[in-house]
Parts: sequence; C-alpha cells; structure tokens
Amino acid sequence: MVSMETLTIKTENKFRSLVTKQAYTKGEVICEIPTEKLFDKANRYTVQISQDQHTEVGKLSALNHSCDPNVILDTENLLMVARRDIEKGEELSFFYPSTEWEMDAPFICLCGAGNCIHVVAGARFLPLSTLENHYLNRHIREMMIELLNHTETHLTTLKDAER
Ligand SMILES: [Zn+2]
Repeated sequence: MVSMETLTIKTENKFRSLVTKQAYTKGEVICEIPTEKLFDKANRYTVQISQDQHTEVGKLSALNHSCDPNVILDTENLLMVARRDIEKGEELSFFYPSTEWEMDAPFICLCGAGNCIHVVAGARFLPLSTLENHYLNRHIREMMIELLNHTETHLTTLKDAER
C-alpha cells in the first residue's frame, strides 16, 4: 500500500493545492487512488474511475488541473503516477479530462501552457485531436467512441431523411 503521507494540502486565499514533500522520478507510483466511497455522480471531491463510478479521493481532491501536468491518475490500476520527474515541494496537477467525462463545476484554465484547452468542463467537450495529446483513461476512450458512433448514426439518419 502506497500511502498519501508524502502529500500535503496547501491553502492560500481559500485556494487549495496539493504539494509533495518528496521528489519522484518519471513513472514512479506516488499513491493509490482511494475507492472506499463511490458515487454515481461527480462532485468536487471525486474522480471518475469508470463510465458510472466516481470515487471520493480525500487529499487528492486538492489536485489542481493543468494542461501540462506532472502526474497521471491511472483509474484502471487506481494509481497516481509521476508523468515526469518531480521535485520536492512542487505542486502536483493532472489533466482533469483524462478522468472526467462531464464535470460538476467547469472553469476557465489560465495555466499558460502552449496547449491550454481554456475551458475545462470534461472530455466530452473537447475535440478528439486535443484529447489524443493526453493520457486518457479507458472509460474516457470508451465514452468518446460511444459519442462518435452516436454522432455517426445521427448523421446517417439525417442523410436518409433527406432522400
Ligand atoms: Zn490550461
């Protein structure tokens, strides 16, 4: 069991962030994603781990979004992994649409990254070309394929109606 003891929540002007007390190398497991409390809808304290499950993540709910993040949430193996080398004292962040299909509280991203997506509302609101540049969990891929298939069926129906 990899615990969250190396992680600490920092609060500044009511703005929370998650900071690491130790360094990690790329690919290293930082902690497990807790799954004791599951919900069928997203809230501010959950991470989506399958098409219909959202898990309360405790301390990890202080993770902020970044379009160029330093950690990955792998919801299949339920692990938080370093996406690159991370220094002691660094704030940890992940790409929210890599787990969230449709977010409870969308917001505007001002991360300044060259590939910034600006509107963070969940994967369903992003083009495939943008999503492909990020680590995506299996449930997000599955939901994207379902959405594309549905759109295709819809377009075919429209075409047929025109005839
Ligand atoms: Zn951004």
